[in-house]
Amino acid sequence: MKNFDEAGLAEPILRAVKEEGYEAPTPIQREVIPHMKAGEDILGIAQTGTGKTAAFVLPLLTRLAEDRKKPAPHTCRALILAPTRELASQIADSVRTYGQYIGPSTAVIFGGVKPGPQLRALSRGLDIVIATPGRLEDHMSTGGIKLDATTTVVLDEADQMLDLGFAPAIRRILGKLPKVRQTVLLSATMPHQIRKLAKEFQSNPREISVAPVSRPIEKIEQSVRFLNSSSKRAALQEILSEKDIERAIVFTRTKRGADRVSGHLDKAGLSSAAIHGNKSQRQRERSLDGFKNGSIKILVATDIAARGIDIDGVSHVVNYELPNVPEAYVHRIGRTARAGKSGVAISLCDGTEQPYLRDIERLIGRKIPSGDGDWADGEMPAYDPANEQTQLKRHKRPQGNRRRSGSGGGGGGGGAGRSAGGAGRPAGGAGRNGAAQSSKPAGEAGARPAGAKPNAGRGRGGKPNANARPAQKSGPNRSQSNRPRRAKPAAAQR
Ligand code: AMP
Repeated sequence: MKNFDEAGLAEPILRAVKEEGYEAPTPIQREVIPHMKAGEDILGIAQTGTGKTAAFVLPLLTRLAEDRKKPAPHTCRALILAPTRELASQIADSVRTYGQYIGPSTAVIFGGVKPGPQLRALSRGLDIVIATPGRLEDHMSTGGIKLDATTTVVLDEADQMLDLGFAPAIRRILGKLPKVRQTVLLSATMPHQIRKLAKEFQSNPREISVAPVSRPIEKIEQSVRFLNSSSKRAALQEILSEKDIERAIVFTRTKRGADRVSGHLDKAGLSSAAIHGNKSQRQRERSLDGFKNGSIKILVATDIAARGIDIDGVSHVVNYELPNVPEAYVHRIGRTARAGKSGVAISLCDGTEQPYLRDIERLIGRKIPSGDGDWADGEMPAYDPANEQTQLKRHKRPQGNRRRSGSGGGGGGGGAGRSAGGAGRPAGGAGRNGAAQSSKPAGEAGARPAGAKPNAGRGRGGKPNANARPAQKSGPNRSQSNRPRRAKPAAAQR
């Protein structure tokens, strides 16, 4: 399949795609669309920016267009699970855009907002529900939605969902779906846990991979400045005062750090917005909208914003603090150089962060060139915990690659439900080529100690949960009983 005309998409979907200005399918679209149309299960490795959303949304919509039937109340024909509210909203925008000429009924389900409108939408019965796992389970437990008529399920950014502690919820949700169904699992990386999930819930999946993992986009001009932590503020101000800044994202490791940096920038006359998991849904949406429409030029973010958010025209990414999970670096800098453009990524590295930098360089397989800083490359004194009490107050001592999963925005998802036919357009549009990016998110730093499980059975913001069920063991019987038979293509079912 070289072009969209050969993809077998329904005419109204093809029309919408052409209006978006897409000239040719991206590699992931070329691979996924035919197999998904054929009703096969898919296990795909693809990052954001590769066109993966359209890869699963276009065949899904085609199936709906070819087999129009009214869903029964409190059911949905297709379910898309996403880790964060932002990603869920973005997918919903894409569904509306690509589906504008067939007008599928849809709802976005996530937490942090009143459930009433969502319940009303669900009660009508829907073609497509796009949800984060936490709030979806809430609605499942009250009978707001039943999944026994859902014949297609897509898990987008599955590895991030697992990182956020959603594995038990996902298993419970998938366990409620009919056994004959199509299961599409997309993930930026393919750790053991994802394979396990695939084995339990997919049937002979078609494996598709479009990008080598862990290699940052070639078009990004990367540099690192070696600084004392006390010099970082001034350096950031200087960087962001440059004329060539169109849109910049500044990353910090912690939520408090993001607020602090945003406050300093505002005082310095550089207006910015902070976005992280402690902000309300409305604040987050307002900040992202402002950033997309250009009224806010600088976004200060924790790693929650590093994944899944598709905003074109980010000219600069500044790592005010280096991430302690090296893969997060690749995600962060991947927010720039999108849609075929180039971009600049500058990292500020103090003495305590040198181990993080080494991990990052090891991951990306190259040395990041050093720019203006207090120290030349290799000259900054190594971090010495015995002598650096002052720094210890500011930064926790680096502890290798300690992974911290976060309570971040994904944590249970919040959200507004709305039905079909809205306006939203996904940002951007120029060609994607499935270029290399990677990998796992860092989550919100400081959320919980390494190895600690998120809230039992739920992974939501600390809410005690009387209904929490233990993670189900995937013993032979259970995995057998959950393993679906392959769903027939819609056409064959009629
Ligand atoms: P995604 O990886 O799904 O986040 O998509 C990233 C961006 O690529 C979005 O802005 C889409 O609008 C855009 N896009 C998706 N498919 C194509 C295509 N075939 N040609 C050009 N742009 C595309």
